[in-house]
Amino acid sequence: MDSLCKSSRQSSSSPFDALLFDMDDTLYSYKIGIGQALKKNIDDFIMEKFGFSESEASALRIELFRKYGSSLAGLRALGHDIDADEYHSFVHGRLPYHLIEPDSDLRSLLLTIHQRKIIFTNSDRVHAVKVLDRLGIRDCFERIICFETMNPNLSRRRPGEVPVVLKPAMEAMNIAVVSAGVVPRRTLFFDDNIQNIVAGNAIGLRTALVGTSKRTSKECDYALEKVSDLIRVIPEIWFIGNTEVDDDKVMASSNRTRNSEMDSSFLASTSVGA
Ligand SMILES: [Mg+2]
Repeated sequence: MDSLCKSSRQSSSSPFDALLFDMDDTLYSYKIGIGQALKKNIDDFIMEKFGFSESEASALRIELFRKYGSSLAGLRALGHDIDADEYHSFVHGRLPYHLIEPDSDLRSLLLTIHQRKIIFTNSDRVHAVKVLDRLGIRDCFERIICFETMNPNLSRRRPGEVPVVLKPAMEAMNIAVVSAGVVPRRTLFFDDNIQNIVAGNAIGLRTALVGTSKRTSKECDYALEKVSDLIRVIPEIWFIGNTEVDDDKVMASSNRTRNSEMDSSFLASTSVGA
């Protein structure tokens, strides 16, 4: 881990000891096209595997996402022998990663946060590492909790024997909390999916819905259009002692954020339907 990311100061008066970040459509905008490409790849996978038409594959993807949380989870739950590595390699391996550009503003912002920062994504580790490397922020996070964390030894299990575990299942939330070793009520969880936010709230996490500035449910403690808004929306992250940090780096990052704020209609709910 980058030493710059390590806490060198006390944060005893901040209500948060740790921050859990979803990754896709949370740390970068869905508008760049990764989510759309992923949907297309999943449709292609279903078409190739089952001989479905494009519209049939698309309809099945949507149905599986609604019922099981992901296409892979749904296909395995229905008894199809889909290897997770093969699936991830197909649907993620051909994504247009070049569309993800380094985000130096986000990196600067993350470097001002001295609490523990952890990625909590449904994606597989290879995809997570590629995305974080493209953004230039991998070293800002202590660890990555991902598909493999929630589904160890899945390849040794028969389809349907054990369910694929992903957010928003409570089992997934429990695994994240235990694996990260965090105290839920002192941990802030960011996600663009309201179902994940509801699950986070249910396990006792403090929650921040990304993608809208409106708190659309009582389970959201905060709502922000994009993560870069958090200096304005959740300044208590930086509280030290009884006063807010007067830190040049925070202010500089805040100014950059204001300068780069986009239209308020920029983000909408962006589940990739993966
Ligand atoms: Mg997401």
